[in-house]
Amino acid sequence: MKHIELPGGERVPALGQGTWHMGDRRGEREREVAAVRAGIDAGLTLIDTAEMYGDGEAERVVGEAMGARRKELFLVSKVFPHNASRAGVRAACEASLERLGTDQVDLYLLHWRGGADLAEAVAGFEDLQREGLIRYWGVSNFDATDLADLWRVPGGDACSANQLLYHLGERAIERDPLPWMREYGIPAMAYCPLGQGRLLKQRALRDFAGRTGITPAQAALAWLQARAEVIAIPKTSDPDRQTENRAAAEITLDREQLAELDHMFPPPKASGPLPIV
Ligand code: NDP
Repeated sequence: MKHIELPGGERVPALGQGTWHMGDRRGEREREVAAVRAGIDAGLTLIDTAEMYGDGEAERVVGEAMGARRKELFLVSKVFPHNASRAGVRAACEASLERLGTDQVDLYLLHWRGGADLAEAVAGFEDLQREGLIRYWGVSNFDATDLADLWRVPGGDACSANQLLYHLGERAIERDPLPWMREYGIPAMAYCPLGQGRLLKQRALRDFAGRTGITPAQAALAWLQARAEVIAIPKTSDPDRQTENRAAAEITLDREQLAELDHMFPPPKASGPLPIV
């Protein structure tokens, strides 16, 4: 498994698992817990969740799947911008920790900028770090302008990651903010790395995968694994698909294969607004 270095020097897996829509339906709970557990067993030990997902229920799914294996994991969760005041960050984080059944989140992200006061949010994150409730903090859905604003706030340059929409069919971040992030050494976490499943239905990708002897999901993830400083967090509630997705970490696409994918799914020619879901 490839690893990515965070600005503080810690290395984290470049492939993990997402949890959006887990916890939405009670009847799915057992399967979701089994899927997260299968992912952990397969080596997908970086887990992304958020207070938003399933109104907190996704964090409970993660907690249940984790059980006594906390030490094996790198847990990422996110705070709503409307909770990102200095006091609000603490309350939100404590609630997330309770649902996750742990006393520390490894990486805590501001889910999107929204109306958050960045100075307050950073001060709140620093409090949590000092008290050991979180190890690192970062942001999500920040473009280069947002990041520059963050860097102007006291302590803002201690940001450890920016989580962004990124997959073969959506490469806008290669124009903004990836170049900014490379310059400042901030890794990207690619969310919706399978294009929420829709990318996998595209004929060109299916043909490529068939010719290469891999699945469309593996092709999409192997392409992301070939990018520098990118951590991908595919979500599946299917235990077998966790194994399939995990196997992508061992697939190395050669220069010709990467060029073929680049040709089929080119980046946009001009900058535009940051894409989000
Ligand atoms: P993904 O791109 O990960 O796609 C998930 C979809 O693909 C699901 O429908 C899943 O179905 C399907 N799928 C997964 N693996 C396979 C496979 N091997 N073959 C076929 N289909 C597959 O989308 P997400 O929106 O879930 O994004 C990933 C994660 O990123 C989220 O779960 C969340 O943690 C994070 N995220 C963060 C955001 C942010 O604003 N910061 C926004 C959106 C997502 P099934 O479950 O049935 O297998």
